[in-house]
Amino acid sequence: MGAGPAALCLTAELVEQGLDVKALASKSPLHPWPNTYGIWASELESLNMQSLLKYRWKDTVSFFGNGVETQGDKYTNHCLDYGLFNSIDFQKALYERCNGLSWEIETVEKIDFRETDTLVSCSSGEKYIARVVIDASGHSTPFVRRPVQGAIAKQAAYGVVGKFSAPPVDKDRFVLMDFRPDHLTKKELSQPPSFLYAMDLGDGSYFVEETSLACAPPLSFDLLKSRLNSRLSHKGIHINEIFHEEYCLFPMNLPLPYRDQPLLAFGGSASMVHPASGYLVGSLLRRAPALAEDIAKSINLTPLLSTSQIAKRGWKTLWNPELVQRHRLYHFGLQRLMSFDESLLRNFFETFFKLPRYDWYGYLTNTLPLPRLFIVMLKLFSIAPFKVRLGMMGLIINKR
Ligand SMILES: Cc1cc2nc3c(=O)[nH]c(=O)nc-3n(C[C@H](O)[C@H](O)[C@H](O)COP(=O)(O)OP(=O)(O)OC[C@H]3O[C@@H](n4cnc5c(N)ncnc54)[C@H](O)[C@@H]3O)c2cc1C
Repeated sequence: MGAGPAALCLTAELVEQGLDVKALASKSPLHPWPNTYGIWASELESLNMQSLLKYRWKDTVSFFGNGVETQGDKYTNHCLDYGLFNSIDFQKALYERCNGLSWEIETVEKIDFRETDTLVSCSSGEKYIARVVIDASGHSTPFVRRPVQGAIAKQAAYGVVGKFSAPPVDKDRFVLMDFRPDHLTKKELSQPPSFLYAMDLGDGSYFVEETSLACAPPLSFDLLKSRLNSRLSHKGIHINEIFHEEYCLFPMNLPLPYRDQPLLAFGGSASMVHPASGYLVGSLLRRAPALAEDIAKSINLTPLLSTSQIAKRGWKTLWNPELVQRHRLYHFGLQRLMSFDESLLRNFFETFFKLPRYDWYGYLTNTLPLPRLFIVMLKLFSIAPFKVRLGMMGLIINKR
């Protein structure tokens, strides 16, 4: 179910396994995806997919208030290439890997689990029967069951691709996080923080996005828009032309689904968004092959496994104990970050990017083995300023 990045990544692998796949989605798999996806270039290089990047920046920096000084601004140099996908090419490349499989344009309304198969009913009245169903219909799926664990924090962002009266970022530069607060009033400083994610797209156009890492309730688009405008006008910059506006809202701390349910899931629906960074696409590409292989094995076993047995084995592969533990650590980290005020958050990130590149990159992309992740978190604690340490221990109560 689905035709977003998760569905296409996994379908390609299921087809590769020689399985008989029926794909259902409300929209065609070639209907352009609404989001622009960014990624560290090395994540794609490790999969030999770097040619799918439309833009690639070598000059990748963040502003936290300290670092190398240049032209009055202080920045942290990430020394690691970052890229933006060409969404159309990415979508097409994944679709082509599905080897001619055609999607039924259907909206799933109901799923009934039976002993040896599953009945899927669609709003058109059409019904489909499958040995196992995989829900890749995104974060807000009503079908995947998960525990209720308090408020869901969401990443919210408002962005503009356009032309500006003066460059909002330096030429050929990508800014991961600009946390400089100079444009904020005292009252705004006490509100949940946001930062600028920005890049030079060439030909005089830029993408600038005011982003809140995670907040419950999420920051409103109106607030983010007004913060973006005041950030720009503080620098004497105004927007001359808007080509595209991006409204971004997705959950960061969705609890892991129950792993004994008869419905499998993949992508946003399976809580695969990284709770600390919000990234998903690299994980989808890395984790789809093992899940597809496991499903193929389960389906071909004799005597036949029940739907529920196939799904349970799939869940175990998708969320193996190591990945579950890492996810818990990331959740713990995010919980702490959400209690930080603006100045503590800036100090935290400044410290975070002082870690060796391998460590911060591995943390943000969820590619560090569990023992290393522990060590990195301890190392981060040991090098952090005293106040940040208190915050990491949960000893600073934010009265916001
Ligand atoms: C604006 C924005 C920017 C983002 N940027 C990045 C980024 O730069 N990098 C990154 O890694 N992540 C990013 N994310 C986070 C995450 O990668 C995306 O949310 C991603 O699109 C989730 O992929 P998905 O395939 O799980 O779900 P979706 O992309 O939401 O796709 C869901 C699919 O399911 C279909 N569907 C839904 N309901 C049904 C139904 N009942 N029956 C049949 N079909 C159904 C839909 O038509 C759609 O095809 C961003 C998210 C947003 C919102």
